[in-house]
Amino acid sequence: MKIGVLALQGDFAEHIAMLRKLNVEASEVRLPEHLNGLDGLIIPGGESTTIGKLAVAYNLMEPLKQFGQRHAIWGTCAGAIFLSKDVSRDQPLLGLMDIKVKRNAFGRQIDSFETDLDIPELKLATGSTLPYHAVFIRAPIIESVSGDAKILASVPDGRIVAAQQGHLLATSFHPELTGDTRFHEYFLSLAD
Ligand code: GLN
Repeated sequence: MKIGVLALQGDFAEHIAMLRKLNVEASEVRLPEHLNGLDGLIIPGGESTTIGKLAVAYNLMEPLKQFGQRHAIWGTCAGAIFLSKDVSRDQPLLGLMDIKVKRNAFGRQIDSFETDLDIPELKLATGSTLPYHAVFIRAPIIESVSGDAKILASVPDGRIVAAQQGHLLATSFHPELTGDTRFHEYFLSLAD
């Protein structure tokens, strides 16, 4: 299995380190041809506006949309925003997932936080019953899901922070910033 990580901006290096920890071949994607031969793609956290502008500049928008028709893509934080159909403002989006996202929904940088989440699918897929410790940094929330997108996780007040639609995955938080590889393992099961 070979997984690419979009490496235009943001914390792509941390995702690559997680994949290598799981003994998965991982490569940086900066140009359309870097998508060739990949089984899945991760879009990292960072700034969704910057990632979008660079994707337009490098002619990656169409190739990424086409890749997502057939292959697994996982967006973390800014990556989840970039995957969505609607962010209530004008910025380049892949529009692959039927989710509506609100940027910076938990406040500013100082309002970044960590919390334990209960994620039934993750427990099922990995056989581990431990709660999932999630790191939120100027995180978006998923305001709503539609079509065949489903909710994977919410914070205790009910705000949605993870969703899945077939082989597409979106998380508001950053699994690449913890030592816990379970979310990456879950994504690999979708890419397989
Ligand atoms: N606030 C960023 C955005 O709106 C996302 C932050 C992150 O990826 N940690 O794009």
